[in-house]
Amino acid sequence: MQLTQRAKSVDRQPLTWLESIYLWNILKGMAITLRHMFMKKATIQYPEQQRTFSKVFRGLHVLNRDEAGRENCTACGLCAVACPAEAITMEAAERQPGEEQLYREEKYAAKYEINMLRCIFCGLCEEACPKDAIYLSQTFAPANYARKGFIYSKDELLIPHPITDREAYVKALGDRQPPHSTTHTN
Ligand code: SF4
Ligand code: SF4
Repeated sequence: MQLTQRAKSVDRQPLTWLESIYLWNILKGMAITLRHMFMKKATIQYPEQQRTFSKVFRGLHVLNRDEAGRENCTACGLCAVACPAEAITMEAAERQPGEEQLYREEKYAAKYEINMLRCIFCGLCEEACPKDAIYLSQTFAPANYARKGFIYSKDELLIPHPITDREAYVKALGDRQPPHSTTHTN
């Protein structure tokens, strides 16, 4: 019994001699290959060539500093709470006297990790952050052979220093504007 009326009976004729040597089908396949050789390619020669990303592309995370080079993150944990993939872990530490040039707030992230295998690049961590301390850049995590290579530590996430490594800092900022003021102290 047929469940639907969509079934079609197939006419199974025995193959002719010409069909049995598959010559015609091979020629048809070759013609398709030949045609595609002259068509616009869907692929590019990465990494020599790179595609322009959409303006709203969300890539690899960057931990931000202010213009004086101090880390913005105050280890409040809001990004980790907002993360639907539970990809962020951190350990907070208290800023010690003399460390004011390193950390903008009284508390900072001594350890900060993002597991890129869990991350779904939703950008909620960036939205949750009250300190402009994390943002998703226009690059993506490069391939790696080991799973642990996708767990990015604070050192890998932290933006280059804006004073000692200005060129790399501006490059990492991309389309983002540098922070306006350096007068904020705690
Ligand atoms: S982009 Fe989304 S999934 Fe990835 S770490 Fe941020 S909040 Fe979590
Ligand atoms: S990145 Fe932002 S939200 Fe996450 S712990 Fe640091 S200050 Fe808080």
